[in-house]
Amino acid sequence: MNYENLFAQKIQEIKKANLFRTIPEITAGAEKYITIEGKKCLNLASNNYLGLSLNEKLKTESIKAINKYGCSSSASRIVTGNYSLYTILEEEIAKFKGYEKGLILGSGYVANLSIISAICDNKWIVFSDRLNHASIIDGIKLSGAKHVRYKHNDMDHLRYSLKKYDKDVKKLIVTDTVFSMDGDTANLIEIVKLAKDYQAIVMVDEAHATGIFGKGRGLVHELGMEKEIDINMGTFSKGLGSFGAYVCASKTIIEYLINKSRGFIFSTSLPPSVIGANLAAIELLKNNYSLGLKLINISEIVRKSLASLGFNTLNSSTQIIPVIIGDRKKLFMAKDFLIKKGVFAAAIRPPSVPINTERLRISLRADLTDDELNLIIQAFKELSQCL
Ligand SMILES: *Cc1c(COP(=O)(O)O)cnc(C)c1O
Repeated sequence: MNYENLFAQKIQEIKKANLFRTIPEITAGAEKYITIEGKKCLNLASNNYLGLSLNEKLKTESIKAINKYGCSSSASRIVTGNYSLYTILEEEIAKFKGYEKGLILGSGYVANLSIISAICDNKWIVFSDRLNHASIIDGIKLSGAKHVRYKHNDMDHLRYSLKKYDKDVKKLIVTDTVFSMDGDTANLIEIVKLAKDYQAIVMVDEAHATGIFGKGRGLVHELGMEKEIDINMGTFSKGLGSFGAYVCASKTIIEYLINKSRGFIFSTSLPPSVIGANLAAIELLKNNYSLGLKLINISEIVRKSLASLGFNTLNSSTQIIPVIIGDRKKLFMAKDFLIKKGVFAAAIRPPSVPINTERLRISLRADLTDDELNLIIQAFKELSQCL
């Protein structure tokens, strides 16, 4: 077997399907402006929604933590990787999110794999929105549970799916609160109702809602549903401008996760620099959630303008705005056109999104000025004229 050839052949297949990916050559991904192909562009492809990754307070607290604890935690938390900042952050995040207990995990990806595979085994059924993040899908696979995908935000389909199984079977319903590709939100009120009717436990992923909705505390907080959503995870890597993930739940569930989450037990805990920044981000949002409000406001303006230009933005109601192009070749033309106008938006194609929904994905940020908003809208106006 020639393994080099095997992989080269696989790459050829990916290229043939127009799905080949490379890591783009850009200067620094979190900054407001990036240079692409020599052109300075407004960065509408980062998840640094609030601009916090460059916030002075986060940087200072990160450096302070390094000076006090060093560059590495050097072990898993349950060995010697614990330090006082960790305990403080877990108390703070639990309070912030309105839960009894919190636990910090290495990344959002690791968190979803670890939580779902700890909670569920092959006796469980997991009901998962078809547009849930890849890490949720991988977590379900790893758990060995039966995986039932319901149509995106389709509560009738969820009910129909739940109904098929015995009441006594253990069930988990899991959903993103803000969907990362469509920018719409989950119908948590209906999901919780169904969970009660069919005796399921509910888990949400607030990766794209944290820092923005519910005074920065997420969509669950905005709806006042902390008591009804059993497991609430999210990340520090997007709106909060840092890195790592959290999960909030009852004392019992967190204790269970400490004992059963393999991504928690068998991985070195996050370094002090990251925990310092995470704490600073929570502290900042606790006292001031105006950035999130501003972002929601900006998003509304841009969405309305795009709609009036005739663009299809699906059911987006958040800072993530898909602009459906629908054709792979046109998609890349559109992306290049916008770059020439000084706007960088991610081009998203299958398998990240369904075929024929190829799209530009705009991630807005709270630090956009009026001039920059006008630049974005003008660029899309010109794009609409040449598509
Ligand atoms: C980004 C993302 C993750 C993964 O988080 P990382 O911290 O980047 O690993 C998990 N869930 C959702 C919904 C995400 O958007």
